[in-house]
Parts: sequence; structure tokens; C-alpha cells
Amino acid sequence: MNTPSGQQGTHLTPHVLPRDEHPISRRMLSENALKVLYRLDQAGFEAYLVGGCVRDSLLGSIPKDFDVATSATPEQVRQLFRNARVIGRRFRIVHVRFGREIIEVTTFRGTPGEDHDNSLAHQSDDGLLLRDNVWGSVDEDAIRRDFTVNALYYSISDFSIHDWTGGLEDLEARRLRLIGDPEVRYREDPVRMLRAVRFAAKLDFSIDAATGDPIHELAPLLLQIPPARLFEEVLKLFLGGHAVTTWRQLQHYGLFAMLFPGAAESLAEFDWAEPMIERALANTDDRIRADKPVTPAFLYAALLWPAVAASARSLEADMPPVPALQQATQQVVSRQLQHTAIPKRFSMPMREIWDLQARLPRRRGKRAFTTLQHPRFRAAYDFLLLRETAGELAPGLGEWWTRFQDLGDEAQRDMIQQLQQGPQEEDADDFPETGGPPPGGKPRRRRAPRRRRRTPPSDDS
Ligand code: ATP
Ligand code: MG
Repeated sequence: MNTPSGQQGTHLTPHVLPRDEHPISRRMLSENALKVLYRLDQAGFEAYLVGGCVRDSLLGSIPKDFDVATSATPEQVRQLFRNARVIGRRFRIVHVRFGREIIEVTTFRGTPGEDHDNSLAHQSDDGLLLRDNVWGSVDEDAIRRDFTVNALYYSISDFSIHDWTGGLEDLEARRLRLIGDPEVRYREDPVRMLRAVRFAAKLDFSIDAATGDPIHELAPLLLQIPPARLFEEVLKLFLGGHAVTTWRQLQHYGLFAMLFPGAAESLAEFDWAEPMIERALANTDDRIRADKPVTPAFLYAALLWPAVAASARSLEADMPPVPALQQATQQVVSRQLQHTAIPKRFSMPMREIWDLQARLPRRRGKRAFTTLQHPRFRAAYDFLLLRETAGELAPGLGEWWTRFQDLGDEAQRDMIQQLQQGPQEEDADDFPETGGPPPGGKPRRRRAPRRRRRTPPSDDS
């Protein structure tokens, strides 16, 4: 094997795997990606496939998308393709679009010299890469990538694979290893900590100790990352089909608390909180495996619900449950927005799912019918079942709605009639009702805190 992870090491020689020693054939690759590679090659530029597509193809799975690395600058790429658009400021790349498929074309990144122009590459005093647009050679590009298995290059000139960092060996060992000094690389871009966890879960790889260990300590670096970028990462973490494993790993490394501090704090408050989140994530994984749609609104609703419940419980000391719930959602959402963005198109339905939790127990008169008509009824009903399964609520109400929604008009009226005759008269106008305790019922018997809180008991209580 060639020299692993050249730290400063430019002008290394790659380990080259000729075409007949690896399983990647052009038939396995995107036609559009091949078009891009050939055109760059014919125009006299170096062009490779790199990243997830090479890694996944070598592992025998179908790549999600295709990334190209080239010696052509973004401008030169744009001139070669009519359908190309330069995007990104911090990290400029070119998107070449073919219908629904986008091929991401990235110019080789180089190591900025001492006298480089700040407008091209720029780093904060503590090492955060604020801009990374200095062009370089393929070997320089390789060592600036994150993990060795993500830095394998498939050459279009002879269909060989070039490995500059020991990626083939790590792929064989199913091991995720950061290129270079892990601490330096995490300080340059703390999102790499999340990527480590995401790839480990997705690929079922181990995280090399030297790559994993520093995360426990460096996790708070994530607080420097703009909420909009973290929102995108959260979606990749939880909507990639391995949400349960990912979540456990995020917890293990102390990363979850950096993304969802309110939720992390409230996990210790209720026995049902962790089971609820695990169940929600398991459902998400199942749906993705079955090719069913999943919505970030439901995911966020579940992740943040224990925080809402904790907050509502303390507010209830001073006000009735309904306004307490409303105020709690307000507090939890505004705190969350400081960490990950939640675009309106997701936060609105998320709030509706929560609001409906207070309406689902109230079924008399026309209420059940109104609730059933609500565009978010189905999600809210699923959410109710989740709460019951996790043990937050005693079972019963969910089952009632299961029956109710499938019946005809008359039978539905009968069901409501029966409620009215029940011994425990349902709902006047005050909540909660017999459908279950208010959110956050069944407080966990306080045991010694599991971990010391770094912040006072949270600003949303
Ligand atoms: P997938 O697309 O399957 O999620 P991927 O490895 O292709 O995985 P992308 O986010 O598409 O991941 O990035 C493409 C490649 O760009 C990566 O394989 C890696 O080489 C490089 N890369 C992406 N993000 C970073 C980063 N934050 N730091 C260093 N290199 C990165
Ligand atoms: Mg990719």
C-alpha cells in the first residue's frame, strides 16, 4: 500500500488499480457523468469520478449521485456545457444538469500558499475554513477531501482507480478514517464530525479510533455552523435510511445535543422520550426502505416533542394546559432555530401536528369530524399512536381514531354518542380529557442526572 494520508504530502505517487483489477465498469456509471468526463478529457483537462460514487460502486451498491473532479476551472467547465451553472461561494462548484440528474463538477482544490488572496481562500483564527477556492492538482485535491474512502479517483483516461490516501485499504477494512490530522480537519469544517457518523451508519463501517475519539471533545465546534447548513445535514442524517443507528451514534459522540440542545436536555425528563424518538426514527427507516414518502415535518415534530412536553409541564404551574402547550411550542421552536433552521414549509405542519394533539381527545359534537377533515389529521394520528406506543399516553384514544376514520357517517355518530354516555364524561371545554394525560404526563422518577448539564436547565422552561 502506498503512503497513507499525506498530511502536507503533495506530489505523492498514487496507488493505481488498473481496469482489470477492480469491478467498476462503465455500464455501472451514469451516462451523463460519463458524458461530462469525456468532454472534459477531450478538451484537454484531467477528469475523474470521485467521492461517494466510486466508494459505493466498489462496495457493490448503487451510487446516489455522481461527483466529478477536474483540472478545469469553474469558468472553463461552464464554457464546455450549455447546461452548467456555477454555484456556491464558500466552495464554488459547477452543476451540470441533465433533466433531473445533476452532475456536480468540482475543480481540484490546492493548498493555499502563504501569500494567497483572501478572496480565494480564507480561514478563521480558530481554523474554520470560510472559503476554499484555491485551485490545485489532483494529489492536492485528494488530501483536502474528508475520509480516505471518499478520496478514490476513477480516471476516464484509462479507467483505473487512483488512491492517494490509503482509501482502498480502509475500504477493505470497512473503516472510516479522516485524511490528515483529525483535530485540524474538524476545526476546518466541523460538519465532518456529522459526516463521520452518517457514513459509518450508512456503510456499516467502523470509525477509526483516531478519527472518532476527538469528536467527544470537539462536538461543540458545530455551534459555529450556520443553522441553514445544519438543517441540510440533519435531513441527510435522518432521511438516509439509517436514522436509528445514526441517532445512537450522534448520542454516543455528544453531537445530538449540539444539534437539538432542548431535546437532548429533555430526554432525561421522561421515560418515554427516548423510546418515542427511536420509534419515530425506526418508522422513518422503514418507510424509506419501502419507498414511501417521509416528511421532515413529522421528523422534527418527534425530535422536539419531549422538549415541548418538558417546557409545557413547567409552564402549567402558572397557566392552563392549552396555552401552556402553545407557549411551550413557541419557546422550543425559537430555541431550535438558533441551531438548525426549519423552513416554514416544515415548521408549519410540525406545529399543526402538535396543535392537533390537544384536539384529538376532544371528540364530542362535530369536533371529531372537524379534526378528521384537517389536512394534517393523518400525521397527527400517526403521532398520537407514536406517543401511545412509547408510553407517554395510556392506549385507547389511538384505537378509537383507528376505528372512527374507517366507518360510515352513521356509525361514526354512534361512536360519538357512546362517548357522551360514557361514565367519564368527555370534554367540556377544558383540556386535558380522558384521552390521556397532557403532553409530558408520567414524569420520569428523577434519578441522578446522567450527565452534567453544561447550561442551566434550559432557557425554555
Ligand atoms: P453521498 O453523496 O453518498 O452522501 P459523498 O461521499 O458523495 O456521499 P458528497 O457530500 O456528495 O458525499 O461529497 C462528495 C465528495 O466531496 C465526498 O466524497 C468528499 O470527497 C468531498 N467532500 C464533501 N464534503 C466534504 C467536506 N465537508 N470536507 C471535505 N471533503 C468533502
Ligand atoms: Mg455524492
